[in-house]
This record gives sequence, structure tokens and C-alpha cells, in this order.
Amino acid sequence: MVKPSIVWFRDDLRLADNPALRAALDRDEPVIGLYVLDDESDGVRPLGGAARWWLHGSLASLGERLRERGSVLVLRRGRAAEIVPALVDEVGAGAVFWNRRYGGAERDIDTAVKSRLRDDGITAESFGGSLLHEPWTVRTGGDTPYAVFTPFWRAVQKLPAPRAPLPEPREVPGPGRHPRSDDLDDWRLLPTRPDWAGGLRDTWEPGEPAARARLREFLRDDLGDYDRSRDEPSGEATSRLSPRLRWGEVSPFQVWHEAVEHRGSGAHAESASRFLSELGWREFSWHTLFHFPELATKNWRGEFDTFPWPRLRPSHLRAWQQGRTGVALVDAGMRELWHTGYMHNRVRMVTASFLSKNLLIDWRRGEQWFWDTLVDADGASNPFNWQWIAGSGADAAPYFRVFNPQRQLERFDPHLEYVRRWAPEHAGDEPPEPIVDLADTRRQALDAYDSVKRAA
Ligand code: FAD
Repeated sequence: MVKPSIVWFRDDLRLADNPALRAALDRDEPVIGLYVLDDESDGVRPLGGAARWWLHGSLASLGERLRERGSVLVLRRGRAAEIVPALVDEVGAGAVFWNRRYGGAERDIDTAVKSRLRDDGITAESFGGSLLHEPWTVRTGGDTPYAVFTPFWRAVQKLPAPRAPLPEPREVPGPGRHPRSDDLDDWRLLPTRPDWAGGLRDTWEPGEPAARARLREFLRDDLGDYDRSRDEPSGEATSRLSPRLRWGEVSPFQVWHEAVEHRGSGAHAESASRFLSELGWREFSWHTLFHFPELATKNWRGEFDTFPWPRLRPSHLRAWQQGRTGVALVDAGMRELWHTGYMHNRVRMVTASFLSKNLLIDWRRGEQWFWDTLVDADGASNPFNWQWIAGSGADAAPYFRVFNPQRQLERFDPHLEYVRRWAPEHAGDEPPEPIVDLADTRRQALDAYDSVKRAA
């Protein structure tokens, strides 16, 4: 009797280097792809607007690619812990495969699904597809998780090299009869009234083919200059692979091995090592989340719980969100974010520092805004980096490091190319005035921090 295998896609919207898909194909039974939009399970953070936009495009692409190869992507909405076993019953599946997720609530769901399926005699297996090293495999000499990046990265480099990527299957045999699927459009992931996604459409093409093309293009054209130019927001010298990695349209294994191949050519050695260490920050973010699942809501350093955040001034928060703070680099960055769903890393640091230190607004408000507006927003890198900037996080920049947005501008956008593109009024004769005094607010932030230190 035919017993199809289900591949439960999540943050791995690709056919190449997909260990769950490979395991299903190895069973020599028809394969059914499944994606569950789970906005009901406790603790699963609802996707932000920009992320929903991306998800729509990426699912459309994956569905089409599965169809071209003979199979199908079934879309269902609701609690994954109920939907996955229900589909198993409906199609008489013999096995379910997936690639692991690392957030606390997601792990709880996956564990529950696995044990329920196994109790019913169904094969249920999970694989590592989204991180180069499973978070529990990187431990200090004292057998604890790492809290500082440099020794973490040193330890990772001593581990066996990440496995080679798996090839893309040419055929994915589908079931004789297709199970019922929701219509992607009915999920309303795309904004209407107002349709604010024009800038996203102009900037990105979600889906695995575009992701792989960008990886090849970056390695060929941009990697050589990465080390020198990565901090300049106007140059577009970085890979822009973050949404691709977020949604798993490429795997870190593919990126890793292809970059290592380029490093081999000699000329790019420094740049390639630097680029690989950025993937290391991604790994470290997930390592931190795995061991501290409340990363998006709680200070990683408990002593920050006493931080005297002043009463919120909504007009300041709004000015920051809208890129109307009167500070050139901050305004340019916030508008790039709103328009494209992306912001250059250097500018993310400056805008985050400005919110949490000059405006003294709790980092969680900024994290939430980024969560809603970034196409690459992920459950680990976003809160990890926010806490890193705010000073409350793992391996955080010392609190007294307050980025000076003016100095950052002079260093990284000296000809105002980036500012002119996104906030041209700052490059004119009468640039706007900052809404707060940078020196005064820096001092206030340092005083507030001193009170945390005294309380600790
Ligand atoms: P590249 O320079 O080409 O780097 C290659 C890859 O390494 C990136 O695609 C990304 O996957 C990873 N990476 C690079 N820097 C970091 C970092 N600091 N932390 C974790 N991974 C990193 N990145 C996200 O992917 N999602 C987020 O939600 C996110 N939120 C952030 C919030 C703040 C306040 C800050 C300061 C940084 C945040 N970052 C986040 C990290 C970083 O800004 C982006 O990964 C980077 O700008 C993406 O551009 P790129 O792909 O061209 O990077």
C-alpha cells in the first residue's frame, strides 16, 4: 500500500540542501510538501508585516518548483500540533520529516508532534538544516553554553567542517490525488489598503532561484571587497543574503562551502574569513536564543531589569519610526527600512543606539518595530542584536559605548551618498535640527546606566 511521506517546510523554503526532503525521497514513496501558517499556538510570535510579504513570495515560488518536479505544496492554517497529525491521517502518510527550529515555543510544538506521531507508529524525524552547528554541540570547557562571541567562534572553527550541501532533486514524485490546500491569496499575507509594499517589490524577488543567483553574484563580484567596504552603507557591498537565510531559501551550508571555495583562490582570503565570521554571529545569535528562549522579551543580563527607562514619549518613538529625528544617518536608515524592508548593518547599529540611548526608549520597542518592518526579521538575530546594542545582552557592547551618529556619518558616509538617497533634506543648505541634544542625552544615558551598576 502506498504510504506517502510528508515534508513539513518551515524556515527552509528550498529544494536544494534540504535534509528533510532528501530523507523523504529516500523512502521511495510519494512526497507531499506541507506548510502550516501557525498564528494560533501559544508563544509563537506572529510574523511582522514585511515578513508576511516575503513569506507569500517564497511560498509561491516553492509551490511552483514542487509542482514542476511532480509534487505539491499543501497549505494549511492553524495549530501545527493538530494540523500535521490530521494531514497524516487524511493521506495515510507513513512518515513526516522536517528541519529543526530553535525557538522555545517552536521546539515545544515539534517535540509534541514528534511524540504523537511516533506513538501512532508513524516515522517522524528531524534534521539540522538551518545552522552550521546544532546549538547544544558547542560547549565551553566547563560544559556551559558560550556567552562571548570570540571564544564561541574559535570553538566552532575547531569542530569538524560543516557537512557538504545536498544536491537539488530533479524529481519529487507526488501523490496520485492532491490533498486539499488553502489558496495562498486567502492568507492575505500581502498588504492591501494601503499597499505599502511597492518598495519591497522593487527591491526583492523572494524564492530559491533568486537566492542562489544572489549568492553566486555576491561571491563573484563583491566578496573581494567585502572586508574593506562592508561598513559603508552606500556601497551595497554586503551579500544581502539575510532574508534568504532567514527563510531558508539558501542554507548556511551552501553559503559556507561556496565562500570557502572562493577563499581558496587566495586574493579573497581576508574578506572571505570576515564574511564567514558574520555567519558566525548568526550562529551565535541562535545559540543564545536556544539557551535563553525569552531573548525577545527579557534582558539577558538580569541587572538591566532595574534600568530606569523614563516614561515613553510617543512623539519621540514616532519620529524615530518615521525617520524624522533630525539626525541624518538615523533618518536615512529608518526610511531605507520602511521603503525596502532592509537596513544596512552599520546603520542598524546607529539607529538602535540612538533609540535606546539618546531617546532612552526601551530596546524592546525598537526590536518590535524592526520585527514588523524587516524582511529578514528573525527570532534570534533581531533581539540578540538589539540587546547587544542596548548593553543588556550577551557579549554586549559596553553600555557606555554610545554611537555618535554624526561621527559615524563622517566615517562611513563621508560624501553623504547614502543620506542623499534616503533623507535628502539633510544634504541640503538647511538641514533639520535633531529632536534631542546628542551630548545631553548621552550623559543622561550614562547616569541611568550608573544606577544599574550601583544596584547590581
Ligand atoms: P552580510 O554582511 O553579507 O553578512 C552575511 C550574513 O551573516 C547575513 O546575511 C546574516 O545572516 C549574518 N549576519 C551578519 N551580521 C550579523 C549579526 N550582527 N547578527 C546575526 N547575523 C548576522 N540580522 C538578521 O538576519 N535578522 C535580523 O532580524 C537582524 N536584526 C538586527 C537588528 C539590529 C539592531 C542590528 C544591529 C543587526 C541586526 N541584524 C539582523 C544583523 C545584520 O544587521 C544583518 O544580518 C545584515 O545587515 C544583513 O545584511 P547582509 O545579508 O548583507 O549581511
